Amino acid sequence: MSYTGPGFDPPQPRRSRRGPLTVALAALVPGALLGWAVYAAVGGSGDDEGSGSTTASASPSAPASASASSRTSSPAPSASSEDEKPSAPAAASGPLEGKVVVIDPGHNPENFKHTAEINRQVDIGTNRKACDTTGTSTNDGYAEADFTLDVAHRMRTLLEKQGATVKLTQDGDRPFGPCVDERARIGNEAKADAVVSIHADGSGTGNRGFHVILPGAVDAGAADTRAIVGPSDDLGTRIAGNFVRVTGSAPSNYVGDGTGLVTRKDLGGLNLSTVPKVFIECGNMRDSKDAALLTSGAWRQKAAQGISDGIVSFLRG
Ligand SMILES: [Zn+2]
Repeated sequence: MSYTGPGFDPPQPRRSRRGPLTVALAALVPGALLGWAVYAAVGGSGDDEGSGSTTASASPSAPASASASSRTSSPAPSASSEDEKPSAPAAASGPLEGKVVVIDPGHNPENFKHTAEINRQVDIGTNRKACDTTGTSTNDGYAEADFTLDVAHRMRTLLEKQGATVKLTQDGDRPFGPCVDERARIGNEAKADAVVSIHADGSGTGNRGFHVILPGAVDAGAADTRAIVGPSDDLGTRIAGNFVRVTGSAPSNYVGDGTGLVTRKDLGGLNLSTVPKVFIECGNMRDSKDAALLTSGAWRQKAAQGISDGIVSFLRG
C-alpha cells in the first residue's frame, strides 16, 4: 500500500546477553513450546513495523543479525507511532500506583488521507525520516492502525487495574500521526517509566511470529539512547517472555534468530526516547495464519495481557 519506505532493515546483531530471555522461555508451558516447534517448521522473512512495504523480502532466517554492519543502513522509515493525548483517567490503587506507562499505538487509521503531512521529513538524530507511515493491513483489509489501537485500549484497561497511570500517544482522535519524533517526546514529557509502541508487521507469507524491537546505542544529534539501552533490554526481554507465555505464539521465524528480540538504530521513536522503550511487532498481517490471530479479539486480549504482564514485571522489578 501506500507505505513509504522499504521495509525492514536487517536486525542488528544482538548483544551477547540472552540470559533473561532464556530464563523467560524456560518457563514456557508445554503448549507454547509445542506451538513454537510448529512455527519452527515454517520459513519466512519479513519486514517490519511500520513501514509496511509488503514485499516478501528476505527469506528465512535472520542470519543478518550476525553481521555487525547490517545496522547502519537502515533506510526504512516506518515506524513508530506514538502520540499523546492523555487518555487515561487517574490511576487506581494497585502495585503500579505512581508508575506511568505510555502506550504508543502504531500509525493512525487516518494517515492514508494525509500523505503530504505524514511524508514530511523529521529529524531522528541519526537521520531524517517520514513523520509517520500508514502501516500495513491484512490481505482482507484489517488495518494495522486499527489493530494497534485495539490492543492499546485492552492494555490500558489491564494496566489501570494494576494502578498505573496510562497515556496513549494517539487515540484515534487526531487527523494523522503524530510524527515519530512527537511520539517519542510524549513518552519523555510524561516521564514514563515504560513505553511500548504497538505494531504488526507486513512481511511475506510464511513469515510468522512476533518480535520485540530494542533500541540500539545511539549518540547522534538529538538522539542519545545510551542511558536507556539497558533498561529497555530488560523491558523488552520481559515482554517477549510473557508474550510467548500468554499467547503461545512463537518468536519470529524471520528476524531475531529465534530470540524474538531485534535491536535497531533507525527508528525515530526509539532513537529520540529518553525513557525505557521498545516496539513489539505482534505478528505478520500478511501471513494468513498470523492474520487469523491478529483479527481475533480473543487473541488480541491475550496479546495485550502478555505485553502488559511484561510491563508489570519490569516495573515491579
Ligand atoms: Zn507498524
